Amino acid sequence: MLSKQLREIFAKNKDSFTDILGQESAKQGIKSALLTNRHIIISGPPGIGKTTLAKNIAKLLPDIEVVDGCSYHCTPEEPVCPSCKQNDRHKTIKLEGIRRFVRIQGSPDLTVEDLLGDIDPIKALKFGPLSLEAFTPGKIFKANNGVLFFDELNRCPEKLQNAMLQVLEEGKTTIGSYDVDFDVNLIFIGTMNPEDSSTEKLSDVLLDRFDVIYMDYPEDTDTEKKIVMAKGNKIASVSDELLTLMVHFVRLLRQDEKLEKKPSVRASIGLYERSQSNALLKGRKNVQFQDIKDVLVSVLSHRIRLKPSVRYLESAENYLKEQFQKLLCSR
Ligand SMILES: [Zn+2]
Repeated sequence: MLSKQLREIFAKNKDSFTDILGQESAKQGIKSALLTNRHIIISGPPGIGKTTLAKNIAKLLPDIEVVDGCSYHCTPEEPVCPSCKQNDRHKTIKLEGIRRFVRIQGSPDLTVEDLLGDIDPIKALKFGPLSLEAFTPGKIFKANNGVLFFDELNRCPEKLQNAMLQVLEEGKTTIGSYDVDFDVNLIFIGTMNPEDSSTEKLSDVLLDRFDVIYMDYPEDTDTEKKIVMAKGNKIASVSDELLTLMVHFVRLLRQDEKLEKKPSVRASIGLYERSQSNALLKGRKNVQFQDIKDVLVSVLSHRIRLKPSVRYLESAENYLKEQFQKLLCSR
């Protein structure tokens, strides 16, 4: 049902994902996957707008009439939660797409019960496993008729990944000793960070069931400058030349082979905002070169990590100062 709604929306608007600048190939890939109701994993480093993009999809969804007071967005025609299933008289309210966006943060502590729901075995005997008394719906139900954004799916235990997959593929799962039918209607968008070496990779079985959309840092300096200006706070004036310098420097660091952790767009925004603060604190209304230099270490040193072979010889702070100096000399 959701894919049908999106088909109409994509057909009407050529540029549907207006909240994200650039990223044309990712946008195209997502549209194409959504039209055939496929499950998506967006793979890419942090801070490139994965959440914004997923929220944008929810925003595009048309308003629907849902049961008033139900946190699972049941429609009177297709109730999914025990409470709406048991009561057949419903007052409804209108709900926008963006309010049907649910974000789940993947972590090793997340349990199948948190995600899918829990059944009280004693009450299940008396009232039935999916009764209002016995069944507590999990987080996934909150995304009913909307978008389930599962951030860093690869951080979850494999058991949970498999349960998730079964729900998406077969519309049923096992909770405790009960087989439960899931008629939840949702768009699933998971993410993973390919540079995150501290966590498990997603299993091949799981990956085989998803389409992976690759997203990367903004494609060029101009796009990144536009993002910085759109997202960053503006309290002093920044010349185009200095903004270019900040963004260019961050982009150089991303290409630097000595770094194993690279700075995201948040680093560019950080330089932009903090250099303005410094200017203001010094009683100026415009950012000068020295302001950038002064905030360099504070904004960037924890956002990069040198490869072990380099780390022994030099600190991130010194490395940053040196590279910045090099850039200036080369201009
Ligand atoms: Zn309900």
